[in-house]
Amino acid sequence: MVIGAYQGVAGAYSQLVIDHFLRERGFEATTIGVPRYANVATTVSALRADIGVLPIENAIAGTVRECYDIVVAFGLVPIREVLWHTDHRLLGIRGSELRDVREILAHPLVIAECGQFLASLPNARVIPCEDTGVAAREVARGGNPTVAALASSAAADIYGLKELAAHCADDPETFSRFLLVRSPNIASDHPLAQPERGTRKKTSLIFSLADAPGKLATCLTEFARRDINVHKLESKPRLGHGSDHGFYLDLDGDVGDPQVESALAAISSEANAFSLLGSYDAHVGAPHRTNEVVSPVAQAQEVRAPQSIAVYENSHIPRVTRAARPQGSTFDIGGVRIGDGEFVIIAGPCSVESREQIMETARSVQSNGALMLRGGAFKPRTSPYAFQGLGWEGIGLLAEAGRATGLPTVSEVMTIDQVERLTGQIDVLQIGARNMQNFDLLKAVGRTGHPVLLKRGLSATIDELLAAAEYILSEGNPNVMLCERGIRTFENATRNTLDLSAIPVLRERTHLPVFVDPSHAVGVRRWIRPLCRAAKAVGAHGLLIEVHPNPAEAKCDKEQALTFGDFADIVDDLASIPLSHRAGMTV
Ligand code: PEP
Ligand code: MN
Repeated sequence: MVIGAYQGVAGAYSQLVIDHFLRERGFEATTIGVPRYANVATTVSALRADIGVLPIENAIAGTVRECYDIVVAFGLVPIREVLWHTDHRLLGIRGSELRDVREILAHPLVIAECGQFLASLPNARVIPCEDTGVAAREVARGGNPTVAALASSAAADIYGLKELAAHCADDPETFSRFLLVRSPNIASDHPLAQPERGTRKKTSLIFSLADAPGKLATCLTEFARRDINVHKLESKPRLGHGSDHGFYLDLDGDVGDPQVESALAAISSEANAFSLLGSYDAHVGAPHRTNEVVSPVAQAQEVRAPQSIAVYENSHIPRVTRAARPQGSTFDIGGVRIGDGEFVIIAGPCSVESREQIMETARSVQSNGALMLRGGAFKPRTSPYAFQGLGWEGIGLLAEAGRATGLPTVSEVMTIDQVERLTGQIDVLQIGARNMQNFDLLKAVGRTGHPVLLKRGLSATIDELLAAAEYILSEGNPNVMLCERGIRTFENATRNTLDLSAIPVLRERTHLPVFVDPSHAVGVRRWIRPLCRAAKAVGAHGLLIEVHPNPAEAKCDKEQALTFGDFADIVDDLASIPLSHRAGMTV
């Protein structure tokens, strides 16, 4: 089953386009409508859809700049261009008459295309709305004969609306240009992973040039002297900042052609910024027409669109903010994918106590589904008389257990002078809750480039956690995982209060992967399982869980340590919770 994502609801032109493509290719397919263009990108990037469609140009209104920019920002692979004749109709409910229409719902691009028609209806107020499908659906739902929508004849059929006027566009041949895009990460044997086999290729790019005479002419000459046809050039608004001039440009040819390749190399050395969307199959022939659509492919009923990304412009956290990497951070720790791989369970004892204890635990959690091994050796204890950890001896034992089982290791770093030596032995440096705002320590781990698990402080707000992470990124280390481990509230029935709402908030506000530590949050063994389920369901990328061969004898945190059996049951149980954590997905 191939899934296609489009912006809008059934009957939107985007849906007609993707539907047509999927049927033409003979796929057994379904389509999902999502609220915004960026959601098409997040859905495709997260592999919740195999392919997505984005409108990139309208014959009258021009470039849909947001969609060009989205293809670049999410690193999507364009595969095919489709031109679609946008023959808008004015649609109303049964009993409605053109002369009675007082409100018209329409997409802003459609309003631009139907200027003369709308001017001929001076008594009707035009109300912009998300897409033509929504416009038609709202008219059908509202049941008001004075409200009409500009949409396709397909939307009229879907929502049972009557045509009050046909061919409303000022230019009867107007069309829109759409790009079909996929993720670069789809499986190599996926039918969409193969390049399309069309006869003509196009290439699209965005670049910017210094504000100086002859710059643009020099670039265009690079194409002209290689006989490359440029058929679209549009300037990108500067919005008052910078002095560079940005341009959207499309040309005939494929990046694999030596001539195109050398022209692009010349442009990129001339340009101050250069982004290649990629090469794709050009549309050949006249734009497709809506009446060619026979019957739409099934609409997914149960697939809920992801929430839109709120692109916070957090100037105090420019590196961790979601806007800096809308597609989400991903990285690899000793072969374990963080961010877009499977749900990552890190398990092990609170502290390393002996070779036997850590080996036995490592073997058990590894055979039951843990992907990484935890174990504290430098322990931040409330009382100076409590067990303080085995120190470097513990680190050596943890590293040995990691090597024996193939599990990457995680252990807490407490001081700056431990940082360098730990990076030689341990795969992930944990910054504990009590050190979340130890800014010099944050900077020291930031200078290493080594993966860091940053735990939320006992009384830290989400903003403070993000600002702490910014310290690490600002030193040049992007490999940070955040960890919600419970915060201190008035509630004392549990050790801390697991702030589950922090997970969707963090997923929206930052591109960094988010882990949940239910052990320290709830502090009671029997309540860990439901919180593991909740953490996975709410969008965490993974868990950090304490497991001990004999919890009653644990030197630290015995009340919350899981037995090997408990751990195996929990992992088993988690298999039934759907994944909702992949890169780019905000919920
Ligand atoms: C730990 O994970 O061992 C630990 C000490 O946790 P926290 O810093 O969250 O209290
Ligand atoms: Mn602990």
